[in-house]
Amino acid sequence: LLDPDAMFKQGFLNDVFQERPLKPVLTRFPPEPNGFLHIGHSKAIAINFGFAKYHGGHCYLRYDDTNPEAEEEIYFTAILDMVRWLGFEPYKITHSSDNFGKLYEMAEKLITIDKGYVCHCDDNDLKLQRGGEKGSSPRFRCKHAEQSVEENLQKFRDMRDGKYKPREAFLRMKQDITSGNPQMWDLAAYRVLDKPHHRTHSDWKIYPTYDFTHCLCDSFEGITHSLCTTEFFLSRTSYEWLNHELGVYEPMQREYGRLAIEGSVLSKRKLKELVEKKFVRGWDDPRLYTLIAVRRRGVPPGAILEFVNELGVTTTNSIIQISRFEQTIRRYLERTVPRLMLVLDPVPVLIEDADDFDGAELTVPFSPRNPAMGDHKINFTKTVYIDRSDFREVDSKDYFRLAPGKTVGFLHAPFPIKATSYTTEGGKVTEIRAVFDRENKKPKTFIQWVAAEGSGSRKCEVRIHNSLFLSENPASAPGGYLNDINPDSEVIYPDAMIESGIEEVKRRAPWPEAAGESKGSDVGPESVRFQAMRVAYFALDSDSTDDKIVLNRIVSLKEDKEK
Ligand code: ATP
Ligand code: MG
Ligand code: MG
Repeated sequence: LLDPDAMFKQGFLNDVFQERPLKPVLTRFPPEPNGFLHIGHSKAIAINFGFAKYHGGHCYLRYDDTNPEAEEEIYFTAILDMVRWLGFEPYKITHSSDNFGKLYEMAEKLITIDKGYVCHCDDNDLKLQRGGEKGSSPRFRCKHAEQSVEENLQKFRDMRDGKYKPREAFLRMKQDITSGNPQMWDLAAYRVLDKPHHRTHSDWKIYPTYDFTHCLCDSFEGITHSLCTTEFFLSRTSYEWLNHELGVYEPMQREYGRLAIEGSVLSKRKLKELVEKKFVRGWDDPRLYTLIAVRRRGVPPGAILEFVNELGVTTTNSIIQISRFEQTIRRYLERTVPRLMLVLDPVPVLIEDADDFDGAELTVPFSPRNPAMGDHKINFTKTVYIDRSDFREVDSKDYFRLAPGKTVGFLHAPFPIKATSYTTEGGKVTEIRAVFDRENKKPKTFIQWVAAEGSGSRKCEVRIHNSLFLSENPASAPGGYLNDINPDSEVIYPDAMIESGIEEVKRRAPWPEAAGESKGSDVGPESVRFQAMRVAYFALDSDSTDDKIVLNRIVSLKEDKEK
């Protein structure tokens, strides 16, 4: 099964460790609690927790909560849930805001060593100082950079004490404007923002920027390897600069490529619009690629880790095709979940000579390959249900399923059946009559069936999700992504039927193989997963109740032909 260390054994990030073989390794996963995690974050989680684990160290979950405007309580819980769902437990849970006091002291220290100044310039001034349009003019510093240490200190304390309105003053680092790296052009360190913070409430009227906060929080926590995505490559210089100037412990920053899925939308603003305009059922709609959505759809956490492992850790930003993600899920489910029989669009078949088997108990294995999954019992009934698509009124030579006068194999059943007649109503087949073909030992094709209700089989609602968008790049679709919605992105079969084995599959969920690393956290309705033979892989939806089964298709059995 899954080897969680695979990516590190293969050598990924090993150079990073060799450069700095510090033990214990300490890493951190530092999400901003301003939205739900998405599939891309699973890579960040796997890398940070995985790297620490592989080197016998620890990983913090640090909420990077320095922007009071965007943060909400619900995201804090949802983020921790997802980390655990993927099978990791944070060594400690911290918040950047835990360090507001220390960060403030560091800002004063920066001013004291003449590496920080309070600036009153506006965006336009800054643009000019940074070389104007496309860097066409020389860079320069504003007059505020010449203020004395005392003056800067006084002004910074005035910022803290609410004597400036937002944008009237901000603290800048005095870096190196001659550098070719824009991250060295006197970045902002603190801003005035008169907003209450969810943890520090109205204690602060100034808040530190990412560039000021991140490296220092890493330093305070003793992070050995600060792993982040490649858009922070240029920030490595300012990260190192600040810790060095302040004379604090210096963690090492290294970058890896972001992960995105083609044909999906991950940006919070767009997801919000899809949810609010009701194009989807919610943030966890199975058509989305937030982690709560991927979970609801039934994708096992182990399959996600395996996917990230397969992609490996490099510095390229990868846009992965949905089909590749689904191929990994399919392979994972193939070896980890039990099989059941389900029909999406049932048509009754009355087997006229099946009296001797009406109510007969059949023993059926949960997996043809893995006997360890065990058997279960289902009852045969004289009337069974097959899928409408497995019957044709007019037979043909290249057709091997059921048709008048034709025999088809019947999975797990005593004999194949041969259709004798059928009735229709309004052009739709309403009942098929058949007999056992007791002599035929080798039918060409086998189809699945479900016994009559009352024998333990149940009706269920099945939801098949297809790509939410028509094009592979919805963000640049003509008329915008909302114009690119696939009208068939959700197909519902309200009258599907499932065999009685679903009860045991539910009772035993999560099947240990499918839970993977996640063990104790893969416990929701979606942990009830199975392969519906000849149909697809399914998981129980959270809309299910004791009386009603609702299923989501996780993935098709083979790569989708339809889209
Ligand atoms: P987004 O804006 O998509 O939410 P972000 O860059 O704001 O992402 P955070 O929400 O703060 O990032 O995420 C925490 C960590 O996850 C960061 O270290 C970030 O680099 C990483 N991360 C975010 N998106 C991806 C991605 N698509 N692939 C890999 N890592 C990612
Ligand atoms: Mg962010
Ligand atoms: Mg984010």
